[in-house]
Amino acid sequence: MSTETTDILIIGAGAYGLSAAWWIGERDTGARVMVLDAGDFAANGTGSCGAGVRMQWGLELSIGLMTESIAFFEDAEKRLDFPGGIEFKQEGYMMLARDADMLGDFQANVERQNALGVPSRILSPEEALKMVPELNPDLLVGAAFCPKDGTVSPFLWLDALLRAIRRAGAEVRFGTTVTRLEQKGGTIVAQTTKGPVEAAKVLVCTDWAAPQLLAPLGIDLPIEAMPNEAMVTEPWQPVFGPCLVRIEHGLFINQLPRGSIVAVVTRELPKDESSSNHADWLPLGAGLFVETLPAFAHLNIVRNWCHPVSITPDMQPILGEMAVPGLFLAVSAYKGFMTSPAVGRLMADVVLDGRSNHPALAAFNLKRFETGDLIPEPLVI
Ligand SMILES: Cc1cc2nc3c(=O)[nH]c(=O)nc-3n(C[C@H](O)[C@H](O)[C@H](O)COP(=O)(O)OP(=O)(O)OC[C@H]3O[C@@H](n4cnc5c(N)ncnc54)[C@H](O)[C@@H]3O)c2cc1C
Repeated sequence: MSTETTDILIIGAGAYGLSAAWWIGERDTGARVMVLDAGDFAANGTGSCGAGVRMQWGLELSIGLMTESIAFFEDAEKRLDFPGGIEFKQEGYMMLARDADMLGDFQANVERQNALGVPSRILSPEEALKMVPELNPDLLVGAAFCPKDGTVSPFLWLDALLRAIRRAGAEVRFGTTVTRLEQKGGTIVAQTTKGPVEAAKVLVCTDWAAPQLLAPLGIDLPIEAMPNEAMVTEPWQPVFGPCLVRIEHGLFINQLPRGSIVAVVTRELPKDESSSNHADWLPLGAGLFVETLPAFAHLNIVRNWCHPVSITPDMQPILGEMAVPGLFLAVSAYKGFMTSPAVGRLMADVVLDGRSNHPALAAFNLKRFETGDLIPEPLVI
């Protein structure tokens, strides 16, 4: 089979791959861009996610990525020329404090966030109940709230990016699996199920599946796949605004604008790359949902799904150029949807220029796992 060529090959058409492709196109360098994906449109982590985007993080680096990303989501309809927009429901994240100790921790987080320009604040139980009257009042001693947080439709986000990058001339192909990467002189050849593709630069955005592509090149990635599960109810009115979080249970609840309610419960599970539901998840997820929102106990659950997320030792991304010249990696560690606007920009810079002045690039390199300079984020849900 003859070898196709391109200047920049991006592997993975999820939020990271498509955002990077868009930002590369924005730089207008004339570089030919090809994106290959093993699956179908949105049949990935991005299409399976809870859709939450938040500035309420604990570390300056995470807050910086999210301040930039949320500003982009606010403007995405115009920036991506996507009439109708990406369904950004910007009505805040409410993190429920179950006791005074947790509320004290939230207060400290809010002070740190405020110092970095995040408009978060502490709510009294009465204020929280006014915003979401269906909340179980017995669970509340207060809450942390940021009105800039919210949810974006992952499907519209991917669609907006895909249409924009195709308009800009990028070649995007689904149903094409990269089986192996090989160094060839100064280029990299991607062996795929549809024939080889040779490129000067290759950006791997395959999330938890990255280790299997990089290991044959001698690059060991401390990335594992952990299953994460969610459910969605039938639509119901009224629609409450904020996303609800019970951090101690890894619970995230979001009512979509059309009324369906999505609940995600993240828990430690044995590492596993499959997308099979776990029999014990639904009673757990539904139980926490009803405990949090008893007024919605009668709703039917329409669907329950599972998808692996990437896990790193400090639950922070791995971004940057690898030891193989021209080979780049962007793996998110379970926040790839919300950080994709900012990470796409910095990855475009590093792929095109070999560097980026974004502090996240210096911090989230692969070497930190050798040196032990891990950067644990305290507000992982
Ligand atoms: C239930 C659940 C809830 C979540 N909630 C949130 C949330 O609220 N907010 C948030 O920010 N994140 C959330 N996440 C995490 C988020 O989904 C991921 O971090 C994010 O989607 C990763 O984006 P990505 O582009 O790196 O990977 P993906 O979207 O998974 O895209 C990777 C792509 O690579 C392709 N691929 C893999 N291997 C190959 C190969 N060899 N050749 C070609 N293509 C390949 C895949 O087909 C896939 O399309 C959640 C995840 C789950 C499962």
